[in-house]
Amino acid sequence: MQKLDILALGGDGIGPEVLEAGLAVAETVAGRNDLQLNVQHDLLHGAAWDQHGTFLHDETLARAKSADAVLVGAVGGPQWDDIRVDGGPEMQDGLMRLRHALDSFAGLRPARFWAPLAERTPFRPGVAEDADIMVLREMCGGVMFAQPRGQTLRDGVRYGYDTAAYDDREVSRIMRAGFELARQRSGRIVSADKANVMESYKLWRQVADEVAGEFPDMALTHMYADNCAYQMARDPAAFDVIVGCNLIGDFLSDLAAVVSGSLGMLPSACLCDVPVVGARIKGIYEPVHGSAPDIAGQGIANPFGMILSVAMMFRYTVGRPDLQSQIEQAVERVLSAGIGTPDIGGTHATQDVADAVIRELAP
Ligand code: ATP
Ligand code: MG
Repeated sequence: MQKLDILALGGDGIGPEVLEAGLAVAETVAGRNDLQLNVQHDLLHGAAWDQHGTFLHDETLARAKSADAVLVGAVGGPQWDDIRVDGGPEMQDGLMRLRHALDSFAGLRPARFWAPLAERTPFRPGVAEDADIMVLREMCGGVMFAQPRGQTLRDGVRYGYDTAAYDDREVSRIMRAGFELARQRSGRIVSADKANVMESYKLWRQVADEVAGEFPDMALTHMYADNCAYQMARDPAAFDVIVGCNLIGDFLSDLAAVVSGSLGMLPSACLCDVPVVGARIKGIYEPVHGSAPDIAGQGIANPFGMILSVAMMFRYTVGRPDLQSQIEQAVERVLSAGIGTPDIGGTHATQDVADAVIRELAP
């Protein structure tokens, strides 16, 4: 029997609620597929701060390092926003530190159209029905981490600065991840940069072309990120894999999310290696939405983003794309049956939605 060690970090707000729903689905799928889940629970970010005075305890990090997969609910909340901790940007945020320490550089943010949610998108009929976008965001480098950064006084003027930088190894591994994903999809990949105005993106583009030589059967297109955003908004169905740096990937994944109709529907994965077909890769899986303090504790959080993140875990960490498809199809049937939480116009509780997905999973 295949075993999977999972570290479950509920985090803050609705995080633990959606995590519970995701784990229930995971247990069902595992139980029917001769797979044993060993789940350990621990604290992250605000919950960890309140308990330990740190956003990510060293012991939690050690557990994450030895697990096969980490599931995260959601983190953050206004009561922790103003806390400042010594150290780099990753020390201010438990999730950022976790990603950085695991070197989970490949941020997969898929966004697809769901027919039952069509009216929640801004698109007129015929535009977004075929949209199925995979934004791949570099997670561990770029302007979010590169040094120097800081604030200072210059001639009596307050001055804040960051450094946009990548080295060729950082670019080549994220590009390889992009091409491997493209190979599993339509074969088309767009690299979004600002090579017209910035040196780090000139390197990005050169390295992308070099890596493209290893994937002669894939079609790489370079786009300036601003134009890419405009084209995505006009014609989302024209895109498949879009790869961008930490900053551009952040913007474009939120933009792509519009085709799904709700923030609560969006899953993500942060993988620690290039997702070659058939590989079993360690990853952090989490819904894209935040901790939604306004609805926490009410049992009405939309669990689909978490459930779809669990589906990604089956694909990339367990190596079973078929199980991902089973979960996605179950989600589709549940949505079509009109079952959903209030944020997508439904009247059901988190638990009802999870139960419905479990019922829909083939016995
Ligand atoms: P973060 O900074 O962590 O991204 P945020 O302030 O951008 O957080 P969210 O916490 O994602 O925002 O919430 C934005 C809005 O969407 C809130 O009104 C919240 O209630 C709603 N929301 C987010 N996630 C869900 C969900 N899973 N189910 C229902 N509503 C949600
Ligand atoms: Mg947000």
